[in-house]
Amino acid sequence: MKHLIPLALLVLCCAAPASAALAAERQPKYPLKTARTLHRDDAIARARENLAKYPSAKRVADNIIKRADAWVDWTDEDLRFLLTSSDVPRAFAVNANGCPQCGGKIIEKSGSDYGWIIDPKRPFKIKCPVDGSVYPTNDYEAYYRSGFKT
Ligand SMILES: [Zn+2]
Repeated sequence: MKHLIPLALLVLCCAAPASAALAAERQPKYPLKTARTLHRDDAIARARENLAKYPSAKRVADNIIKRADAWVDWTDEDLRFLLTSSDVPRAFAVNANGCPQCGGKIIEKSGSDYGWIIDPKRPFKIKCPVDGSVYPTNDYEAYYRSGFKT
């Protein structure tokens, strides 16, 4: 969840110019979004008033912006690469038994089987927070970039 807010801000900030360029190049199946739809103008104005009025709101906003700043240096190509094609299989969990190296220690440490460290700069890899082992051990990124040919 903590990564969704900066990503949502990034999408909101960058979506309009990209959408306009794409609209000229493709025939969308459904009408493209042409305006903001999540927040009304009055809600945004109220949020801005709260930022000016309440230091705690300003701290929350500053923290969100600080986390979103980490995405600013990414290239458009690298950001798009994070959204893999539907050819990549999905799963709801990594391994119900924990880490292949340390077993259930990751579950004990994190309180769930979602304690894996995910670094968007290392796509298709996860790291155990207990022993630092990285999975998968193959180079799935190279396989994906090759179009599943190598
Ligand atoms: Zn481990």
